[in-house]
Amino acid sequence: MSGRSSALLLGLLAGLFIAGAAAALLWPAEKPRTVAARSEAPAAPPAPPPRSAPVVRDVPRETARIAPPPKREDAPKPAPAAAPAAPVTAPVAAPAAKSPPPPPAAVYDPDPEPTVAEPTTLAAIPTVPPPATPPPAASGQPAWQRYAVAAPPTSGRPMIAIVLDDVGLNRPQSRRAIALPGPITLSFLTYAEDLPQQTASARAAGHELMLHVPMEPMESSVSPGPEALTVAANETELQRRLNWGLGRFTGFVGINNHMGSRFTQDADGMSVVLSELQRRGLLFLDSVTTGRTVGSAVAARYGVPFARRDVFLDHVQDAAAVRQSLEQLERKARAQGYAVGIGHPHPATIDVLQAWLPTLQSRGYTLVPLTAIVKRLHEPAAGRNEAAIPPPRG
Ligand SMILES: [Zn+2]
Repeated sequence: MSGRSSALLLGLLAGLFIAGAAAALLWPAEKPRTVAARSEAPAAPPAPPPRSAPVVRDVPRETARIAPPPKREDAPKPAPAAAPAAPVTAPVAAPAAKSPPPPPAAVYDPDPEPTVAEPTTLAAIPTVPPPATPPPAASGQPAWQRYAVAAPPTSGRPMIAIVLDDVGLNRPQSRRAIALPGPITLSFLTYAEDLPQQTASARAAGHELMLHVPMEPMESSVSPGPEALTVAANETELQRRLNWGLGRFTGFVGINNHMGSRFTQDADGMSVVLSELQRRGLLFLDSVTTGRTVGSAVAARYGVPFARRDVFLDHVQDAAAVRQSLEQLERKARAQGYAVGIGHPHPATIDVLQAWLPTLQSRGYTLVPLTAIVKRLHEPAAGRNEAAIPPPRG
């Protein structure tokens, strides 16, 4: 009897012990959770599994750039394949390299910096590495054609493209720009917020998308914004900043420079940019913020589809001045067969465009997205015809 009851007692004790141990295990796990939830501070984010040697990441990427791999992974996927790499590397930027840290705050400089009216001479291209292999057609169209907005038939009329850049920072003004009759081309600043949402609504409104990439101006007191491309940055750093910008959203046909009167004179730096655009099948619109830009020459060298700004619409932010610039744009279009105007989402610009855009057609011009002009410029002169421009949809 005593043997059996002590065995029973032992069994009971063992059961209690196991239950107690289990409770002890559960209880402490609960506690920190409530504390963390209450204090709301993002104090301890769940530690990610330690990624080994972040520095090494740059090595394969750089070698890949020097010897460009012919594979084009962006064809099957709508999102640029290089995008995911950027966020991982971004926080790692610290290592002592000579590259300066990005400017602290996103200062919105509404002006594209003073410009010369027309480029005088194109600076000679110094020694640049030979162009990479010509853009492979891959299995589909390059991004600049894939994301192009369909253009209306021009029927021989002069084409006018309106590009508004610096879009995305001032949200109310950006919404007004998006609400303009289109198709116009909206170039969103890399460092604006909520770009996937903002650009999706722009695209849904029928506009073409571009990426507005900050580049170093001549005037050193003017900040072009975070992650700007500068002449002092080495190739690896330039590539990193560029990849960061190019990964901000998808569906854009190419880039144009925000400021950049210093950087666009630098053939080595521009080669890094244009070889990457070539690799991704994107076009380059030179804002021409300096007459000494090497944009067109380096674009030609890399076979990148190219256009240049003809007229700035709102150097002076007042309605009369904007109207004058638009008249100048029309004259240019009549003389050249096409013209590219760049403006900004300033109130005066948008007010004037709101009235002017609907009158274009009846006055003998065709409003087109930028890609329609780029297509025209890149068609062989002989085979130039309307059929190459896709008809309007719906
Ligand atoms: Zn700009």
